[in-house]
Amino acid sequence: MNPERILIVGGGVAGLMCKNRLEYLGYKPVLVEKSDVLRSDGAGILLGANVMKIFRECALEEPLMQYAQSLDEIMLYDQIGDTIGRFDLKKLREETTYPTVAVHRKRLHEVLLHSVDTSTIRLSHKVIGITQENDTLKVVYENGKNEEYDYVIGADGLRSVLRDLYVKRVPLRDAGYVCWRFVCDRPAALDVKSSSEFWDTKNKRIGIFPIGEDKIYCFLLATTRGGEEAMDFTEVLEYFKDFRGDWQHVVASLDTAATELLFNPIADLSSVALAKGKVILVGDAGHATTPNLGQGAALGIESAYAFGELLKCNTFDGAVSLYSQKRFKRVSYIRNRSRFIGRMSHNISPFFQPIREFIMKITPNSMNQREFERAILGGF
Ligand SMILES: Cc1cc2nc3c(=O)[nH]c(=O)nc-3n(C[C@H](O)[C@H](O)[C@H](O)COP(=O)(O)OP(=O)(O)OC[C@H]3O[C@@H](n4cnc5c(N)ncnc54)[C@H](O)[C@@H]3O)c2cc1C
Repeated sequence: MNPERILIVGGGVAGLMCKNRLEYLGYKPVLVEKSDVLRSDGAGILLGANVMKIFRECALEEPLMQYAQSLDEIMLYDQIGDTIGRFDLKKLREETTYPTVAVHRKRLHEVLLHSVDTSTIRLSHKVIGITQENDTLKVVYENGKNEEYDYVIGADGLRSVLRDLYVKRVPLRDAGYVCWRFVCDRPAALDVKSSSEFWDTKNKRIGIFPIGEDKIYCFLLATTRGGEEAMDFTEVLEYFKDFRGDWQHVVASLDTAATELLFNPIADLSSVALAKGKVILVGDAGHATTPNLGQGAALGIESAYAFGELLKCNTFDGAVSLYSQKRFKRVSYIRNRSRFIGRMSHNISPFFQPIREFIMKITPNSMNQREFERAILGGF
C-alpha cells in the first residue's frame, strides 16, 4: 500500500499520538485540523501510569518529565477538609516503575507535536464530508478542497464528524454536571507531590493538582442547575466558598483577572463506536468518557498505541478490522466505571448524600486502591 494515503482527522492528543505511531512504523500519514493553529485548551491533565508506560516505550517520557509533576498521592477530603480516602500513587510507581503525573495540557501537546513530522500537518482543513467509492475514501473539506485516501483515522473529538457521517450516529449523553477549570501559581502551602479532591454533600467537587513549573490545576464540578455558563469567576468562587483545606490557600492567592477560567458541560457518548470499513475512531471520537477517572486522554493514547501494535504484525486492513475487538472491553469498562462515579457524586438525592459520604469514610483504603489500580493497570 501507499504509506502516504492515510489521513488522520484532528490534531488533539489522540490524533498526534496516532501520527507518532504510524510514522514510527514507516507510514507517512497526513493530519488535518480544522483550527488555524494546533492548540490545547489551556488547563491541566492527569496522566496515569498506563500513559507513562506507553510514553516510556515511545521515548516520550523524558521530554514530558521536563515539565510534568510526578505525584505521590491523591487525597480525598470532605468539604471541611477531613480525610475520606487516599490513592497511593507512590506505591503504584514503586510496583510498576511508572509514575502518575500531572502536567499543563499545552506541554503535553508540545511534546507530542515535537515527536511527529509537522510538514504533513494541514491546518484550517475542516472535514465536512466523507464517502467511499470502491476502496477509496473521498474526504471533503469546508474550504472547498477534497482528497482521496485509502484509510482514515477519525480523531476529531467528542463531536466527531467522521463518527456521525460514516461510522455510526451516536447521541451524546449529558452527564448532568458541569466543570470549570483553571491553572494558577501554586500557593507555597501546597505540597508539590500531593494532589487533592474535595467532595461536599451538595453535589459539588473540587480537585487541586500540582502540574509542575510551580503551577497547579484546579477543577470545580457541580451538578447542573441551569445558568452556570454565564457565571463569572467571582460567582464561581462564591458558589464553592464552603470548601475548606487547601482550597482556601488557592482562593487566597488567586489572581482572577490574570487567570483563564474554562467551562464545560460534561458529556460522553451513549455508546462506543470504534470502526467501520476503512475508518477507525480513536480518542473521544470513538470512546469519549466522563472525566471522573482522569482517563479520557489516556484511553485515546492507549488506542493509538494499540493500533500501532496491531500494525506491527498485521496488514493495515488486518489492523483496522482487529482494532474494535482489541479496544472494546477496555474502553467500555472505563466509560461505565467513570459514569458510575459521576452518578454517585452528582446525581444522587440529598437524602442519600450523607449515606454516600459515610460509605466513603468507612470504605477501606485498600478497596479504593484496588479499584483505582484496576482502572490504570487494565491499560498495561
Ligand atoms: C473537564 C475535563 C477534565 C479532563 N481531565 C482528564 C484527565 O485528567 N486525564 C485524561 O486522561 N483525560 C481527561 N479528560 C479527557 C480528555 O480531555 C479528552 O479525552 C481528550 O482531550 C480527547 O482528546 P482527542 O484528541 O480525542 O480529542 P480533542 O482534544 O477534542 O481533539 C480533537 C481535534 O480534532 C479537531 N477537529 C474536530 N472536528 C474536526 C473536523 N471536522 N475536521 C478537522 N479537525 C477537526 C479539533 O479542533 C481538535 O483539535 C478530561 C476532560 C474534561 C472535559
